[in-house]
Amino acid sequence: MRSVRPLAFLALAIVSGPGTAAISAQTLPTDDPVIRAIWDMGMGEASMVEPLAQVLMDSIGPRLSGSPGQRAADAWLTRTYASWGVEAREEQYGTWRGWDRGWTHIDLLEPRVRTLNGTMLAWSPGTEGPVEGEIVALPTFSGPQDLTAWAAGIAGRFVAFSAAEPTCRAPESWEALATPESWERMQALQTETARAWATSIRAAGGQGAVIQAIEDAGAAGVLTGRWSAGWGANKIFGAPTERIPAVHLSCEDYGLVHRLAAHGQGPRLRLDAQAEFLGEMPVYNIIGELPGTELPDEYVLLTAHLDSWDGGSGATDNGSGTIMMMEAMRILKQVYPNPRRTILVAHWGGEEQGLIGSSAFAEDHPEVVDGLQAAFNQDNGTWRIDFIRMQGFLGAGEHFGRWFSAMPREITQHIELDVPGVPETGGSDHMSFICRGTAGFRLQSHYPDYRQYTWHTDIDTYDKLVFDDLRNNATLAAMLAYLASEDPERVGTEQRALDRDWPSCRPARRSSGG
Ligand SMILES: [Zn+2]
Repeated sequence: MRSVRPLAFLALAIVSGPGTAAISAQTLPTDDPVIRAIWDMGMGEASMVEPLAQVLMDSIGPRLSGSPGQRAADAWLTRTYASWGVEAREEQYGTWRGWDRGWTHIDLLEPRVRTLNGTMLAWSPGTEGPVEGEIVALPTFSGPQDLTAWAAGIAGRFVAFSAAEPTCRAPESWEALATPESWERMQALQTETARAWATSIRAAGGQGAVIQAIEDAGAAGVLTGRWSAGWGANKIFGAPTERIPAVHLSCEDYGLVHRLAAHGQGPRLRLDAQAEFLGEMPVYNIIGELPGTELPDEYVLLTAHLDSWDGGSGATDNGSGTIMMMEAMRILKQVYPNPRRTILVAHWGGEEQGLIGSSAFAEDHPEVVDGLQAAFNQDNGTWRIDFIRMQGFLGAGEHFGRWFSAMPREITQHIELDVPGVPETGGSDHMSFICRGTAGFRLQSHYPDYRQYTWHTDIDTYDKLVFDDLRNNATLAAMLAYLASEDPERVGTEQRALDRDWPSCRPARRSSGG
């Protein structure tokens, strides 16, 4: 594997921070008027990334598959594209379990009053008005008989289902400030806590069996905690229950109620949770198009999934990618409205349920797969694009090198190209093209803090977006689309030899099945 930093034609004095917007295209070392115009529109005062992101993340909010939020986002995208003169359509690819999240009000009543920080897990049943009950923690099970005996006494109670974290202090704090011995002991305790919980659940017959016993016993609800191992960050996924509410509590509040229950201090809870199941709802990809003038049957794709989990606002997963691609299309429509190849923007649904929207699109549009010049997908957060893997396509590096040499160094200097790289095996929607042997690429940005703090968490919100980088990324996407469209040659898709199989495609799941 060889990594190269592409050559850029001239080094410029770099202006960073808010001043970046003041850089005029006049200073760019290029004679290409389209590149200059993209830079001006993307990096200058006319940038739309902030107002677009504010509407999507704050006003529309999260976009869970099958939820009214997702449909509101679909409608806003198509309307926004129409206002820019970009033809955009909703393409239904299937249905998903419809669910409308209402409020979740959670109060600890005994032994002291505290309003708890938490929310229903997605697709959780709600309550019919406020419900009160005692909180009990799971005991340690040594066999299924223990589960049966314990479940006999939990009717009308809330069950604290998860293991309680021994600390909600971020590891970077422990590393910086604790003695090494103390941090080591804490890590051992974390490992042991997780191991003991898993052993007990396994002994009882597994998570499914324990949840079913809790539901069958008529418990009032299930409380869970899933810490994201960072200050104040919690992962919010789908409910494990079918018939009773499943409510996630913050690391701190889950630990509080769990300790109170484990120490027999009589914690009582009041829960008022509204949720409505809507049946199977239609789900869509949003596809916008700038028709090609010379090679209309060859395609350049800008892609990012629009759906999200709903504990936060889906800002970095994947509001940032959504805004980046919308802004790139807005710019292209203004400065390059009649592309040589057809440029499509695709805002996928159902990524979080297994790359469903993009798989379905690839199944339903063999003409796009056959005519694909390149697909550029973004899906890992808000930071500046800094890495692009050629995914094992032997011919791709030459094209990226050519495209990068036509772009300003302010953008390319941050990006490492992995040539020829190896194909990824999963992760996001570019796989729906790579698995078909066509040129799908992922525009990647810094990963670790995304994984720790915002990926699928309750703090994945507008305030985490880095707009200087979003402007940079939208400008990059517009330039890549322009250069890939104008490229005299098709991107080669000859595959490098691998010591494993090329990634294979999975059929798109067209409904949730209930
Ligand atoms: Zn994502």
